[in-house]
Amino acid sequence: MFKSKTPVIKPDFEIKHFTRIVWRRPEYKAVWEPRLGRISRMANRAEYEMVKRGYRRAATWHVDVNNFAEFIEQIQRDGLYFFPIAKSAYYQGFSHYHVPPKPGEPFFWYGALVRDPKDGERFREASKRKDGHIEIGEMLGYPKCCVEFFMDTWSQGFYDPLWQAAENDGDPVLEKDRWTLEEDKYVIYIPDPYPEAIQELRYFGIRMTTHLPHSHRCKGTKRVGKKWRKVMEDIDPEAFEWLEEILTSPIVWDSYHGVAQVHTPWFVGLAHTYPYLDKRRVIVLNSERIPWDLNL
Ligand SMILES: [Zn+2]
Repeated sequence: MFKSKTPVIKPDFEIKHFTRIVWRRPEYKAVWEPRLGRISRMANRAEYEMVKRGYRRAATWHVDVNNFAEFIEQIQRDGLYFFPIAKSAYYQGFSHYHVPPKPGEPFFWYGALVRDPKDGERFREASKRKDGHIEIGEMLGYPKCCVEFFMDTWSQGFYDPLWQAAENDGDPVLEKDRWTLEEDKYVIYIPDPYPEAIQELRYFGIRMTTHLPHSHRCKGTKRVGKKWRKVMEDIDPEAFEWLEEILTSPIVWDSYHGVAQVHTPWFVGLAHTYPYLDKRRVIVLNSERIPWDLNL
């Protein structure tokens, strides 16, 4: 069982879902905003293609009811099936549960996208069972080590377990906060993560794979990531280069009081996350020091 090296005060509340991007300079926004759009579209398309090409048995899918007809026609052309599981209201960023829509409110159908209808049945059946995560994870093409890690941390209440994955990479060090010089924060430096295993920017659609890796150097994730790379490069080679550029640059994930600030050389992304109430948690990727010039 995952045992954190850092003590946690368990919160009894959740932060309202949100995501924001703050650009460091207008010129960065002009260049990178359209690029992020392309990256995000490529990554979404890759989720679909991975099933279509038979690289994995299933994808979780959200179908906007307003585009239902187009969606059904498209999957019919591609020989795929959709198995609806639950209705979900719109949300921003990521969500670890589905909020049922109010009457009259627009909603998504959440469900499984599959090539073989038998897999759709299996998926739906497994999603009703408490122990169904292993089977679902396998159908989604997730490495077993990461599925087990997810179940373990999830059952302890960590629904955004990036810090827990970082603790599998190295010991946290206690550092003085640069601004207040009084507060302490926990920092883990991971100078050589696999780009495939970086999910710190997924709130903004920036990611190479779709599961939460058990470590930033998970070999299983690197292996699975090979297929994702290939599919993404086929869809939009230019967008894939931009994605790789971001994921190999210094990234600082700084989480405190339920807000994750994710620093990159071009922007700071803000998103809701698990509320750490005692001390900030900071993950530094692709760098051996906190690149302070990243601060706005
Ligand atoms: Zn793993």
